[in-house]
Amino acid sequence: MARALAGTRLSVTLVEARDDVGDGTSKANTALLHTGFDATPGTVESRLVARGYDLLGDYAEQTGIPVERTGAMLVAWTTEEVDALPGLMVKAEGNGYRDTELLSADEVYRRVPALGPGAMAGLSVPGESIICTWTTNLALATDAVARGATLVRGARVTAVTPGAEYTTLHTSAGEMRARWVINAAGLGADHLDAQFGYGRLTVTPRRGELLVFDKLARPMVPVIVLAVPSSRGKGVLVSPTIYGNVMVGPTSENLTDRTATGTSEKGLDFLVTKGRALMPALFDEEVTATYAGLRAASNHDDYVIDLDAAARYVLVGGIRSTGLTSGMAVAEYVTELLSEAGVDVAERDDLPPPPRMPNIGEIGVRPYQDEQRITADPDYGRLVCFCERVSVGEIRDAFDSPIPPADLDGLRRRTRVMNGRCQGFYCGAHTAELLAEGVAR
Ligand SMILES: Cc1cc2nc3c(=O)[nH]c(=O)nc-3n(C[C@H](O)[C@H](O)[C@H](O)COP(=O)(O)OP(=O)(O)OC[C@H]3O[C@@H](n4cnc5c(N)ncnc54)[C@H](O)[C@@H]3O)c2cc1C
Repeated sequence: MARALAGTRLSVTLVEARDDVGDGTSKANTALLHTGFDATPGTVESRLVARGYDLLGDYAEQTGIPVERTGAMLVAWTTEEVDALPGLMVKAEGNGYRDTELLSADEVYRRVPALGPGAMAGLSVPGESIICTWTTNLALATDAVARGATLVRGARVTAVTPGAEYTTLHTSAGEMRARWVINAAGLGADHLDAQFGYGRLTVTPRRGELLVFDKLARPMVPVIVLAVPSSRGKGVLVSPTIYGNVMVGPTSENLTDRTATGTSEKGLDFLVTKGRALMPALFDEEVTATYAGLRAASNHDDYVIDLDAAARYVLVGGIRSTGLTSGMAVAEYVTELLSEAGVDVAERDDLPPPPRMPNIGEIGVRPYQDEQRITADPDYGRLVCFCERVSVGEIRDAFDSPIPPADLDGLRRRTRVMNGRCQGFYCGAHTAELLAEGVAR
Protein backbone atom coordinates (compact mmCIF):
# COMPACT_ATOMS: atom_id res chain seq x y z
CA MET A 1 0.00 0.00 0.00
CA ALA A 2 2.89 2.35 0.75
CA ARG A 3 4.28 1.63 -2.70
CA ALA A 4 0.96 2.13 -4.46
CA LEU A 5 0.13 5.39 -2.69
CA ALA A 6 3.67 6.76 -3.02
CA GLY A 7 3.01 6.56 -6.75
CA THR A 8 0.44 9.35 -6.38
CA ARG A 9 0.86 12.97 -5.23
CA LEU A 10 0.17 11.94 -1.63
CA SER A 11 2.94 12.18 0.93
CA VAL A 12 3.30 8.73 2.46
CA THR A 13 4.98 7.49 5.64
CA LEU A 14 5.33 3.78 6.36
CA VAL A 15 5.40 3.35 10.15
CA GLU A 16 6.83 0.00 11.25
CA ALA A 17 7.12 -1.14 14.87
CA ARG A 18 10.02 -3.47 14.23
CA ASP A 19 13.56 -2.68 13.13
CA ASP A 20 12.98 -4.01 9.64
CA VAL A 21 10.29 -4.24 7.00
CA GLY A 22 8.77 -7.67 6.43
CA ASP A 23 9.75 -8.85 9.90
CA GLY A 24 6.20 -9.80 10.97
CA THR A 25 4.04 -12.58 9.54
CA SER A 26 5.36 -11.76 6.07
CA LYS A 27 8.78 -13.27 6.84
CA ALA A 28 7.58 -16.73 7.90
CA ASN A 29 5.01 -18.32 5.64
CA THR A 30 4.93 -21.15 3.12
CA ALA A 31 5.77 -18.72 0.30
CA LEU A 32 3.30 -19.97 -2.27
CA LEU A 33 2.00 -17.68 -4.99
CA HIS A 34 -1.60 -18.87 -4.86
CA THR A 35 -3.97 -18.99 -7.80
CA GLY A 36 -6.84 -18.78 -5.31
CA PHE A 37 -8.41 -21.96 -6.74
CA ASP A 38 -9.61 -23.10 -3.31
CA ALA A 39 -10.82 -19.76 -1.89
CA THR A 40 -14.49 -19.28 -1.07
CA PRO A 41 -16.00 -17.88 -4.27
CA GLY A 42 -17.56 -14.44 -3.94
CA THR A 43 -15.37 -13.31 -1.03
CA VAL A 44 -13.11 -10.28 -1.06
CA GLU A 45 -10.23 -12.67 -0.38
CA SER A 46 -11.05 -14.78 -3.45
CA ARG A 47 -11.11 -11.71 -5.69
CA LEU A 48 -7.94 -10.17 -4.29
CA VAL A 49 -5.93 -13.40 -4.29
CA ALA A 50 -6.76 -14.03 -7.97
CA ARG A 51 -5.88 -10.43 -8.86
CA GLY A 52 -2.79 -10.41 -6.63
CA TYR A 53 -1.54 -13.57 -8.32
CA ASP A 54 -1.37 -11.71 -11.64
CA LEU A 55 -0.08 -8.44 -10.20
CA LEU A 56 2.69 -10.03 -8.14
CA GLY A 57 3.60 -12.44 -10.94
CA ASP A 58 4.14 -9.49 -13.30
CA TYR A 59 5.92 -7.42 -10.65
CA ALA A 60 8.24 -10.34 -9.89
CA GLU A 61 9.31 -10.40 -13.54
CA GLN A 62 10.01 -6.66 -13.51
CA THR A 63 11.97 -6.67 -10.26
CA GLY A 64 13.64 -10.08 -10.24
CA ILE A 65 11.72 -11.50 -7.27
CA PRO A 66 12.43 -15.24 -7.64
CA VAL A 67 9.39 -17.29 -8.69
CA GLU A 68 9.31 -20.93 -9.80
CA ARG A 69 6.27 -22.05 -11.74
CA THR A 70 6.29 -25.55 -10.25
CA GLY A 71 2.53 -26.18 -10.21
CA ALA A 72 0.75 -28.10 -7.47
CA MET A 73 -0.97 -31.45 -7.14
CA LEU A 74 -3.61 -32.31 -4.56
CA VAL A 75 -3.39 -35.95 -3.56
CA ALA A 76 -6.43 -37.95 -2.41
CA TRP A 77 -5.67 -40.77 0.04
CA THR A 78 -9.24 -41.87 0.92
CA THR A 79 -12.41 -42.45 -1.10
CA GLU A 80 -13.91 -39.43 0.66
CA GLU A 81 -11.05 -37.30 -0.66
CA VAL A 82 -11.38 -38.79 -4.16
CA ASP A 83 -15.07 -37.85 -4.10
CA ALA A 84 -14.17 -34.28 -3.08
CA LEU A 85 -11.93 -33.63 -6.11
CA PRO A 86 -14.65 -32.84 -8.72
CA GLY A 87 -16.21 -30.37 -6.26
CA LEU A 88 -12.84 -28.66 -5.94
CA MET A 89 -12.67 -28.30 -9.72
CA VAL A 90 -16.06 -26.59 -9.67
CA LYS A 91 -14.92 -24.37 -6.80
CA ALA A 92 -11.79 -23.41 -8.74
CA GLU A 93 -13.97 -22.42 -11.69
CA GLY A 94 -16.09 -20.33 -9.32
CA ASN A 95 -12.87 -18.53 -8.48
CA GLY A 96 -12.11 -17.98 -12.16
CA TYR A 97 -9.42 -20.68 -12.31
CA ARG A 98 -10.04 -23.19 -15.12
CA ASP A 99 -6.78 -25.12 -15.47
CA THR A 100 -7.30 -27.89 -12.91
CA GLU A 101 -7.18 -31.48 -14.13
CA LEU A 102 -8.16 -34.77 -12.48
CA LEU A 103 -5.32 -37.28 -12.28
CA SER A 104 -5.31 -41.06 -11.93
CA ALA A 105 -3.23 -42.74 -9.24
CA ASP A 106 -0.72 -43.81 -11.91
CA GLU A 107 -0.33 -40.22 -13.07
CA VAL A 108 0.06 -39.02 -9.47
CA TYR A 109 2.97 -41.44 -8.96
CA ARG A 110 4.45 -40.60 -12.36
CA ARG A 111 4.62 -36.95 -11.32
CA VAL A 112 5.91 -37.55 -7.78
CA PRO A 113 7.36 -41.07 -7.52
CA ALA A 114 8.52 -40.53 -3.93
CA LEU A 115 4.97 -40.34 -2.55
CA GLY A 116 4.09 -42.96 0.04
CA PRO A 117 1.82 -45.88 -0.82
CA GLY A 118 -1.95 -45.47 -0.95
CA ALA A 119 -2.52 -42.40 -3.17
CA MET A 120 -5.81 -42.97 -5.01
CA ALA A 121 -6.13 -39.94 -7.32
CA GLY A 122 -5.08 -36.35 -7.72
CA LEU A 123 -5.98 -32.92 -9.00
CA SER A 124 -3.38 -30.81 -10.75
CA VAL A 125 -3.31 -27.03 -10.27
CA PRO A 126 -0.57 -25.98 -12.69
CA GLY A 127 -0.61 -22.28 -11.79
CA GLU A 128 0.41 -22.64 -8.14
CA SER A 129 3.98 -21.40 -7.76
CA ILE A 130 6.71 -20.84 -5.20
CA ILE A 131 8.06 -17.35 -4.58
CA CYS A 132 10.60 -15.61 -2.37
CA THR A 133 8.57 -13.89 0.33
CA TRP A 134 11.63 -12.04 1.70
CA THR A 135 12.48 -10.42 -1.65
CA THR A 136 8.82 -9.57 -2.23
CA ASN A 137 8.57 -7.56 1.00
CA LEU A 138 11.86 -5.84 0.35
CA ALA A 139 11.13 -5.02 -3.30
CA LEU A 140 7.80 -3.39 -2.46
CA ALA A 141 9.31 -1.37 0.40
CA THR A 142 12.34 -0.37 -1.69
CA ASP A 143 10.02 0.76 -4.47
CA ALA A 144 7.92 2.75 -1.97
CA VAL A 145 11.03 4.55 -0.75
CA ALA A 146 12.25 5.18 -4.33
CA ARG A 147 8.86 6.73 -5.09
CA GLY A 148 9.29 9.10 -2.17
CA ALA A 149 7.70 7.35 0.82
CA THR A 150 9.36 7.89 4.18
CA LEU A 151 10.12 4.68 6.03
CA VAL A 152 10.23 4.92 9.81
CA ARG A 153 11.38 1.72 11.47
CA GLY A 154 11.28 0.98 15.19
CA ALA A 155 8.13 3.09 15.67
CA ARG A 156 5.27 1.21 17.32
CA VAL A 157 1.97 3.07 17.27
CA THR A 158 0.69 2.90 20.84
CA ALA A 159 -2.22 5.34 20.76
CA VAL A 160 -4.15 7.52 18.36
CA THR A 161 -5.75 10.92 18.90
CA PRO A 162 -8.26 11.85 16.20
CA GLY A 163 -8.42 15.52 15.22
CA ALA A 164 -10.52 17.63 12.85
CA GLU A 165 -7.80 17.86 10.23
CA TYR A 166 -5.12 15.41 11.39
CA THR A 167 -4.92 12.22 13.38
CA THR A 168 -2.02 12.18 15.82
CA LEU A 169 -0.20 8.87 16.09
CA HIS A 170 1.65 8.38 19.36
CA THR A 171 4.54 6.04 18.61
CA SER A 172 7.52 4.63 20.47
CA ALA A 173 9.60 6.97 18.30
CA GLY A 174 7.59 10.12 18.95
CA GLU A 175 4.43 11.73 17.62
CA MET A 176 3.38 11.86 13.98
CA ARG A 177 0.46 13.57 12.28
CA ALA A 178 -1.42 12.11 9.35
CA ARG A 179 -4.37 13.28 7.33
CA TRP A 180 -5.29 9.66 6.55
CA VAL A 181 -4.30 6.51 8.43
CA ILE A 182 -4.25 3.01 6.96
CA ASN A 183 -4.12 0.32 9.59
CA ALA A 184 -2.28 -2.68 8.11
CA ALA A 185 -0.85 -3.82 11.43
CA GLY A 186 -1.32 -7.57 10.85
CA LEU A 187 -1.49 -9.30 14.22
CA GLY A 188 -1.97 -5.89 15.88
CA ALA A 189 -4.71 -4.60 13.55
CA ASP A 190 -7.55 -5.12 16.06
CA HIS A 191 -5.71 -3.26 18.82
CA LEU A 192 -5.10 -0.30 16.53
CA ASP A 193 -8.70 -0.48 15.30
CA ALA A 194 -9.85 -0.17 18.91
CA GLN A 195 -7.88 3.10 19.11
CA PHE A 196 -10.25 4.44 16.46
CA GLY A 197 -13.21 3.44 18.61
CA TYR A 198 -14.05 0.23 16.81
CA GLY A 199 -14.60 -3.27 18.21
CA ARG A 200 -15.35 -5.15 15.03
CA LEU A 201 -12.32 -7.41 14.77
CA THR A 202 -10.57 -9.85 17.09
CA VAL A 203 -7.30 -11.26 15.80
CA THR A 204 -6.42 -14.83 16.75
CA PRO A 205 -2.78 -15.72 16.12
CA ARG A 206 -2.95 -19.04 14.28
CA ARG A 207 0.44 -20.70 14.41
CA GLY A 208 1.83 -22.63 11.47
CA GLU A 209 5.00 -24.65 12.12
CA LEU A 210 7.21 -26.01 9.34
CA LEU A 211 10.09 -28.42 8.83
CA VAL A 212 12.79 -27.59 6.27
CA PHE A 213 14.76 -30.42 4.66
CA ASP A 214 18.24 -30.34 3.21
CA LYS A 215 18.78 -29.55 -0.46
CA LEU A 216 19.55 -33.21 -1.25
CA ALA A 217 15.80 -33.86 -0.84
CA ARG A 218 14.76 -31.34 -3.50
CA PRO A 219 14.63 -33.74 -6.51
CA MET A 220 12.01 -35.78 -4.65
CA VAL A 221 9.53 -32.90 -4.73
CA PRO A 222 9.20 -31.47 -8.25
CA VAL A 223 5.76 -29.96 -7.56
CA ILE A 224 3.89 -28.64 -4.53
CA VAL A 225 2.04 -31.60 -3.01
CA LEU A 226 -1.15 -30.44 -1.34
CA ALA A 227 -3.65 -32.24 0.86
CA VAL A 228 -7.33 -32.27 -0.09
CA PRO A 229 -8.82 -29.51 2.09
CA SER A 230 -11.49 -30.54 4.57
CA SER A 231 -13.57 -28.90 7.29
CA ARG A 232 -10.43 -29.25 9.43
CA GLY A 233 -8.41 -26.94 7.19
CA LYS A 234 -6.03 -27.07 4.26
CA GLY A 235 -3.88 -29.86 5.70
CA VAL A 236 -0.15 -30.39 5.48
CA LEU A 237 1.76 -29.76 2.26
CA VAL A 238 5.14 -30.87 0.99
CA SER A 239 6.71 -28.19 -1.15
CA PRO A 240 9.95 -27.30 -2.83
CA THR A 241 11.31 -23.96 -1.66
CA ILE A 242 12.73 -21.19 -3.78
CA TYR A 243 16.12 -21.72 -2.06
CA GLY A 244 16.33 -25.35 -3.21
CA ASN A 245 15.07 -27.07 -0.06
CA VAL A 246 11.88 -28.97 0.74
CA MET A 247 9.42 -27.99 3.44
CA VAL A 248 6.65 -29.83 5.22
CA GLY A 249 3.87 -27.99 7.03
CA PRO A 250 2.23 -25.88 8.19
CA THR A 251 0.36 -26.87 11.34
CA SER A 252 -2.69 -24.86 12.29
CA GLU A 253 -3.13 -24.01 15.94
CA ASN A 254 -5.02 -21.11 17.51
CA LEU A 255 -3.04 -19.39 20.25
CA THR A 256 -3.49 -16.32 22.41
CA ASP A 257 0.14 -15.15 22.52
CA ARG A 258 0.79 -12.93 19.47
CA THR A 259 4.53 -13.31 19.86
CA ALA A 260 4.66 -17.13 20.01
CA THR A 261 6.68 -17.71 16.85
CA GLY A 262 8.70 -20.55 18.39
CA THR A 263 8.18 -24.15 17.28
CA SER A 264 6.80 -26.80 19.64
CA GLU A 265 7.51 -30.48 20.22
CA LYS A 266 3.83 -31.26 19.64
CA GLY A 267 3.76 -29.39 16.34
CA LEU A 268 6.94 -30.97 15.02
CA ASP A 269 5.80 -34.47 16.10
CA PHE A 270 2.58 -33.92 14.19
CA LEU A 271 4.49 -32.87 11.06
CA VAL A 272 6.84 -35.85 11.27
CA THR A 273 3.89 -38.29 11.57
CA LYS A 274 1.88 -36.64 8.77
CA GLY A 275 4.86 -36.06 6.53
CA ARG A 276 6.22 -39.58 6.90
CA ALA A 277 2.89 -40.99 5.69
CA LEU A 278 2.91 -38.65 2.69
CA MET A 279 6.52 -39.22 1.67
CA PRO A 280 8.44 -41.76 3.77
CA ALA A 281 11.69 -41.43 1.77
CA LEU A 282 11.87 -37.72 2.61
CA PHE A 283 12.37 -38.61 6.24
CA ASP A 284 15.62 -40.41 5.40
CA GLU A 285 16.95 -36.94 4.57
CA GLU A 286 18.01 -34.36 7.13
CA VAL A 287 15.89 -31.60 8.60
CA THR A 288 18.08 -28.49 8.60
CA ALA A 289 15.67 -25.95 10.08
CA THR A 290 12.26 -25.50 11.64
CA TYR A 291 10.25 -22.31 11.89
CA ALA A 292 6.80 -21.00 12.69
CA GLY A 293 4.65 -18.08 11.60
CA LEU A 294 1.45 -16.61 13.00
CA ARG A 295 -1.50 -16.04 10.68
CA ALA A 296 -3.63 -13.04 11.62
CA ALA A 297 -6.88 -15.06 11.64
CA SER A 298 -9.93 -13.19 12.87
CA ASN A 299 -13.55 -13.68 13.90
CA HIS A 300 -14.57 -13.02 10.26
CA ASP A 301 -14.51 -15.52 7.37
CA ASP A 302 -13.02 -12.96 5.01
CA TYR A 303 -10.57 -10.07 4.92
CA VAL A 304 -11.92 -7.01 6.74
CA ILE A 305 -11.19 -3.96 4.57
CA ASP A 306 -13.22 -0.89 5.35
CA LEU A 307 -12.85 2.87 4.87
CA ASP A 308 -14.27 5.36 7.35
CA ALA A 309 -14.42 8.66 5.45
CA ALA A 310 -15.39 10.74 8.49
CA ALA A 311 -12.39 9.51 10.51
CA ARG A 312 -10.14 9.41 7.38
CA TYR A 313 -9.19 5.90 8.39
CA VAL A 314 -8.89 2.57 6.56
CA LEU A 315 -8.78 -0.84 8.26
CA VAL A 316 -7.03 -3.64 6.42
CA GLY A 317 -7.39 -6.56 8.82
CA GLY A 318 -7.72 -10.34 8.94
CA ILE A 319 -5.27 -10.81 6.05
CA ARG A 320 -4.79 -14.38 7.22
CA SER A 321 -3.18 -17.09 5.09
CA THR A 322 -3.06 -15.55 1.62
CA GLY A 323 -1.68 -12.04 2.08
CA LEU A 324 1.66 -12.61 0.37
CA THR A 325 -0.21 -13.31 -2.85
CA SER A 326 -2.98 -10.75 -2.47
CA GLY A 327 -0.91 -7.83 -1.12
CA MET A 328 -0.60 -5.86 -4.35
CA ALA A 329 -4.31 -6.35 -5.07
CA VAL A 330 -5.18 -5.22 -1.53
CA ALA A 331 -3.18 -2.07 -2.30
CA GLU A 332 -5.07 -1.57 -5.55
CA TYR A 333 -8.42 -2.03 -3.78
CA VAL A 334 -7.54 0.41 -0.99
CA THR A 335 -6.46 2.95 -3.61
CA GLU A 336 -9.88 2.58 -5.26
CA LEU A 337 -11.64 3.05 -1.91
CA LEU A 338 -9.62 6.23 -1.30
CA SER A 339 -10.50 7.49 -4.75
CA GLU A 340 -14.21 6.91 -4.08
CA ALA A 341 -13.78 8.88 -0.85
CA GLY A 342 -12.52 11.84 -2.90
CA VAL A 343 -8.76 11.47 -2.36
CA ASP A 344 -6.68 12.30 -5.44
CA VAL A 345 -4.87 9.04 -6.17
CA ALA A 346 -4.00 9.64 -9.81
CA GLU A 347 -0.63 8.08 -10.56
CA ARG A 348 2.27 10.49 -11.13
CA ASP A 349 3.95 10.41 -14.52
CA ASP A 350 7.48 10.77 -13.13
CA LEU A 351 7.77 7.43 -11.33
CA PRO A 352 11.17 5.76 -11.10
CA PRO A 353 11.46 2.28 -12.64
CA PRO A 354 10.83 -0.59 -10.20
CA PRO A 355 13.95 -1.73 -8.35
CA ARG A 356 15.97 -4.66 -9.68
CA MET A 357 16.41 -6.98 -6.71
CA PRO A 358 19.41 -9.25 -6.05
CA ASN A 359 18.56 -12.85 -6.93
CA ILE A 360 18.62 -15.14 -3.89
CA GLY A 361 16.60 -17.92 -5.53
CA GLU A 362 17.96 -21.09 -7.08
CA ILE A 363 16.06 -20.48 -10.32
CA GLY A 364 18.28 -17.72 -11.72
CA VAL A 365 22.01 -17.12 -11.84
CA ARG A 366 23.47 -16.35 -8.43
CA PRO A 367 26.51 -14.05 -8.21
CA TYR A 368 28.92 -16.94 -7.37
CA GLN A 369 27.92 -18.56 -10.69
CA ASP A 370 28.48 -15.43 -12.75
CA GLU A 371 32.03 -15.36 -14.13
CA GLN A 372 31.72 -11.93 -15.72
CA ARG A 373 30.47 -10.42 -12.51
CA ILE A 374 33.24 -12.02 -10.48
CA THR A 375 35.84 -10.77 -12.97
CA ALA A 376 34.46 -7.25 -12.66
CA ASP A 377 34.24 -7.47 -8.87
CA PRO A 378 36.06 -10.35 -7.14
CA ASP A 379 33.98 -9.86 -3.96
CA TYR A 380 31.23 -11.85 -5.70
CA GLY A 381 33.62 -14.79 -5.85
CA ARG A 382 34.66 -14.61 -2.19
CA LEU A 383 32.19 -16.86 -0.39
CA VAL A 384 31.22 -16.26 3.21
CA CYS A 385 28.45 -18.84 3.56
CA PHE A 386 29.41 -22.08 1.81
CA CYS A 387 26.11 -23.88 2.38
CA GLU A 388 24.07 -21.19 0.64
CA ARG A 389 26.93 -19.83 -1.52
CA VAL A 390 26.66 -16.24 -0.32
CA SER A 391 29.48 -13.91 -1.28
CA VAL A 392 31.11 -10.93 0.42
CA GLY A 393 29.85 -8.78 -2.48
CA GLU A 394 26.21 -9.60 -1.74
CA ILE A 395 26.61 -8.79 1.94
CA ARG A 396 28.26 -5.48 1.07
CA ASP A 397 25.41 -4.73 -1.38
CA ALA A 398 22.80 -5.43 1.31
CA PHE A 399 24.33 -2.75 3.55
CA ASP A 400 24.60 -0.32 0.60
CA SER A 401 20.93 -0.84 -0.37
CA PRO A 402 18.17 1.73 0.26
CA ILE A 403 16.82 -0.36 3.18
CA PRO A 404 19.88 -1.91 4.84
CA PRO A 405 19.44 -4.73 7.37
CA ALA A 406 19.40 -3.84 11.05
CA ASP A 407 20.53 -7.22 12.36
CA LEU A 408 21.66 -10.72 11.46
CA ASP A 409 18.15 -11.91 10.69
CA GLY A 410 17.64 -9.01 8.31
CA LEU A 411 20.92 -9.82 6.58
CA ARG A 412 19.84 -13.47 6.31
CA ARG A 413 16.58 -12.45 4.62
CA ARG A 414 18.46 -10.33 2.10
CA THR A 415 21.22 -12.79 1.23
CA ARG A 416 20.48 -16.29 2.67
CA VAL A 417 23.66 -16.08 4.74
CA MET A 418 23.61 -18.59 7.65
CA ASN A 419 20.46 -20.13 6.25
CA GLY A 420 22.08 -23.45 5.39
CA ARG A 421 22.64 -26.85 6.87
CA CYS A 422 25.62 -25.86 9.02
CA GLN A 423 23.48 -23.30 10.88
CA GLY A 424 26.31 -20.80 10.79
CA PHE A 425 28.93 -23.17 12.24
CA TYR A 426 31.41 -22.29 9.46
CA CYS A 427 30.36 -18.77 8.55
CA GLY A 428 29.03 -17.41 11.86
CA ALA A 429 32.18 -15.55 12.94
CA HIS A 430 32.91 -14.08 9.50
CA THR A 431 29.27 -13.05 9.07
CA ALA A 432 29.19 -11.42 12.51
CA GLU A 433 32.31 -9.44 11.55
CA LEU A 434 30.75 -8.25 8.27
CA LEU A 435 27.52 -7.44 10.09
CA ALA A 436 29.33 -5.28 12.66
CA GLU A 437 31.20 -3.46 9.84
CA GLY A 438 27.99 -3.00 7.85
CA VAL A 439 25.88 -1.76 10.74
CA ALA A 440 28.67 0.64 11.78
CA ARG A 441 28.77 2.17 8.27
C1 LIG B 1 2.41 -20.44 8.33
C2 LIG B 1 1.92 -19.44 7.30
C3 LIG B 1 1.86 -19.79 5.98
C4 LIG B 1 1.42 -18.88 5.02
N1 LIG B 1 1.51 -19.20 3.70
C5 LIG B 1 1.18 -18.28 2.76
C6 LIG B 1 1.35 -18.58 1.39
O1 LIG B 1 1.86 -19.65 1.05
N2 LIG B 1 0.95 -17.68 0.47
C7 LIG B 1 0.39 -16.48 0.83
O2 LIG B 1 0.01 -15.71 -0.05
N3 LIG B 1 0.26 -16.14 2.13
C8 LIG B 1 0.65 -17.02 3.10
N4 LIG B 1 0.54 -16.70 4.42
C9 LIG B 1 -0.07 -15.44 4.78
C10 LIG B 1 0.83 -14.24 4.64
O3 LIG B 1 2.11 -14.51 5.17
C11 LIG B 1 0.16 -13.08 5.40
O4 LIG B 1 -1.18 -12.95 4.97
C12 LIG B 1 0.89 -11.78 5.13
O5 LIG B 1 2.25 -11.94 5.43
C13 LIG B 1 0.27 -10.68 5.96
O6 LIG B 1 0.97 -9.50 5.72
P1 LIG B 1 0.64 -8.22 6.57
O7 LIG B 1 1.45 -7.14 5.98
O8 LIG B 1 -0.83 -8.06 6.68
O9 LIG B 1 1.13 -8.59 8.05
P2 LIG B 1 2.59 -8.51 8.64
O10 LIG B 1 3.60 -9.06 7.71
O11 LIG B 1 2.53 -9.11 10.02
O12 LIG B 1 2.85 -6.95 8.74
C14 LIG B 1 2.25 -6.15 9.70
C15 LIG B 1 3.31 -5.22 10.22
O13 LIG B 1 2.71 -4.30 11.11
C16 LIG B 1 3.62 -4.06 12.14
N5 LIG B 1 2.86 -3.56 13.30
C17 LIG B 1 1.97 -4.25 14.06
N6 LIG B 1 1.47 -3.46 15.02
C18 LIG B 1 2.04 -2.24 14.84
C19 LIG B 1 1.90 -1.00 15.53
N7 LIG B 1 1.08 -0.84 16.56
N8 LIG B 1 2.65 0.04 15.10
C20 LIG B 1 3.49 -0.08 14.03
N9 LIG B 1 3.64 -1.24 13.35
C21 LIG B 1 2.91 -2.31 13.75
C22 LIG B 1 4.28 -5.39 12.40
O14 LIG B 1 5.54 -5.24 13.04
C23 LIG B 1 4.38 -5.95 11.00
O15 LIG B 1 5.63 -5.73 10.39
C24 LIG B 1 0.96 -17.59 5.42
C25 LIG B 1 1.03 -17.24 6.75
C26 LIG B 1 1.53 -18.13 7.69
C27 LIG B 1 1.66 -17.71 9.12
